[in-house]
Amino acid sequence: MKRELLHLEPVLQEKIWGGKRLRTVFGYDIPSDRTGECWAISGHSNGDCKVKNPAYAGETLGSLWKKHPELFGNLEGDSFPLLIKIIDAQDDLSIQVHPDDAYANVHENGSLGKTECWYVLDCDPGATIIIGHNAKTKEEMQQMIDENRWSELLREVPIQKGDFFQINPGCLHAIKGGTLILETQQSSDVTYRFYDYGRLADGKPRPLHIAQSLAVTTVPHAAEAPVQETVCKEDAKITHLVTCPYYAVYRMELNGSVTMDWAQPFVNVSILKGEGTLDGEPVKMGDHLVIPAGYGEMKLEGNLELIYSHI
Ligand code: ZN
Repeated sequence: MKRELLHLEPVLQEKIWGGKRLRTVFGYDIPSDRTGECWAISGHSNGDCKVKNPAYAGETLGSLWKKHPELFGNLEGDSFPLLIKIIDAQDDLSIQVHPDDAYANVHENGSLGKTECWYVLDCDPGATIIIGHNAKTKEEMQQMIDENRWSELLREVPIQKGDFFQINPGCLHAIKGGTLILETQQSSDVTYRFYDYGRLADGKPRPLHIAQSLAVTTVPHAAEAPVQETVCKEDAKITHLVTCPYYAVYRMELNGSVTMDWAQPFVNVSILKGEGTLDGEPVKMGDHLVIPAGYGEMKLEGNLELIYSHI
């Protein structure tokens, strides 16, 4: 008998820069019109998704990882390793950088570093993001910071729906207002805030971590442009977005049916558009699920756009 697909309940998080598109686009029951993040597939203690399957009533993805490691291929590790979010940025997010595993292990009590990637679901005309910087040396970067030459320092690039960005540790980055993205990342929360546009939250600037940011930022900026390849399989078009040491991410457009053979320890699936069935189980836009280890063949049917990822 086949193992059940794990259906998850997203965790919605308010953010000062958030908006209401998680309701207007995806239909989620958001806590306020300042909702920035949907933690769609998460076993992280700051937003652990409930498992909807009656067979696992009361469990979360985080608790299942501990109690039923066989569902995830008996992988090592204390917690579910990936985190999938949908982010609605109505306003600009602060500019941040993440350490790698080695730096985080030494300086953040054995934490993991963070590698992440963004798939642009939608954006306003003229939307941009910050990715990287224009300093040639750390000295030049320090000087530009001291002289408040932020717009010259930060590398701002225009974006379009369907764009994809891989953000390695050491890469300065920020989502800017008017952008809806799906983020796939290592499940870690170690973030250094580099610049916040001089904004105030509750009358005070939010703390910056300039020294740590400078210590971990890659100088000069190393551009990362994963080669994308699209293959057709039956009625599906599958685009390989990236493979890095922490995850592989794919996008599928399906108009009809396709049979996939899942052999990974687990696969995260986020339905971004349309409706259909996975081995007869109905799914629709906004649903997120995990395909457990040893699942094997699955017939997908319908008109669907989805992102899937695995380690
Ligand atoms: Zn980040």
